[in-house]
Amino acid sequence: MNVLVINCGSSSLKFQLINAETEATLAKGICERIGIDGALTYKKTGGEKEQSKKDMPTHKEAIAFVLEALMNEATGVVKSLDEISAVGHRLVHGGEEFSSSVVINEEVIKGVEACNDLAPLHNPANLTGVRACQEAMPGTPMVGVFDTAFHQTMPEHAYIYGLPFEYYEKYKVRRYGFHGTSHSFVSKRAAEIAGKPYEQMKTIVCHLGNGASVCAVLNGKSVDTSMGLTPLEGLAMGTRSGDVDPAILEFLNKKEGLDIAQIMNVLNKKSGVYGISGGLSDFRDLTEKRLAGDHQATIAMEVFAYRVAKYIGSYVAAMNGVDFIAFTAGIGENDDLVRSDVMEYLGYLGVELDKEVNTGLRGEEKRISTEDSKVEVWVVPTDEELAICRETVSLLQ
Ligand code: AMP
Repeated sequence: MNVLVINCGSSSLKFQLINAETEATLAKGICERIGIDGALTYKKTGGEKEQSKKDMPTHKEAIAFVLEALMNEATGVVKSLDEISAVGHRLVHGGEEFSSSVVINEEVIKGVEACNDLAPLHNPANLTGVRACQEAMPGTPMVGVFDTAFHQTMPEHAYIYGLPFEYYEKYKVRRYGFHGTSHSFVSKRAAEIAGKPYEQMKTIVCHLGNGASVCAVLNGKSVDTSMGLTPLEGLAMGTRSGDVDPAILEFLNKKEGLDIAQIMNVLNKKSGVYGISGGLSDFRDLTEKRLAGDHQATIAMEVFAYRVAKYIGSYVAAMNGVDFIAFTAGIGENDDLVRSDVMEYLGYLGVELDKEVNTGLRGEEKRISTEDSKVEVWVVPTDEELAICRETVSLLQ
């Protein structure tokens, strides 16, 4: 059975076709600049990457090009649409309505639409992708996998903000958390690696990518996570500020004359390590500058690591201990300097970094703590597409 995994943004559509039995990726790619000028990047596993300009006024044309590429006689991987048994969609915000993945039907679509206010940029774009696939592949079952669902197990004291309770009651203003698919995938893998039942593990997953969050997984359940109502809270990220004193918003309004939309733009797109370093959000560039002695790049990376370490500490408190710490996503899997910066703060836990293993380790599942370390620390590569494929298969079986 082949599963097409779709991750739809407002002007992009990422796709991956996975053979669910072997879990091998058959082909993957991305449609970008949908509604602008349109470009398709496609790569069959083992083949060359192809890039082509395509006229894509909407996601409907984009999905048509994707299916055409997958069925292309020379470079395709299937002969007909019949060979695609299901579609798994990444859906960003399921609010309190969705605490697990779902088979998509009209009721589900309405439920996701009801969460649009909570993720105005993501949810409508995700649903555009769902609609486009429904039109192109009528009759093919589709599953929605939510970024927020895994965190629905958080206890009230972790998700209620220190705000008037009526805002929760009226608008469901609370912590939801994101990257749930990744936190779930990595924490399950952590239990396999440790050789312990998932239900008896205290794991902290550090998903450090351009968007970054930390999650406390106690006995197989998310009990806290650093992102909140939106993905803006928590760590200092690529361009997002993460936690700031909310009074800064009013201060900037007065001092810089910025309105709320402009301030939100600063917090989302011009802050984080990008804002601190003066324009760098990629950790490869930051590391290069830091090693060349650049002060702002150095503080940006220090702030990033310090925040991660603070969240780890708070989640050790939340779980009354930790057995396993996992680093994942672009930075977590690839940046040895960030990993060692974070681990320097963890001596009190009896964590010891194996410098030799950590140095130069990229994208590979490996233990980076020494044999003597009291807590196991590993790089565990995430695979959100595979996780979505597995969810899709398990729901349809
Ligand atoms: P993600 O959002 O998970 O795709 O992560 C993207 C980020 O990972 C990039 O912005 C980089 O900062 C970081 N990254 C990717 N590759 C490397 C690398 N080899 N070394 C350091 N950072 C990397």
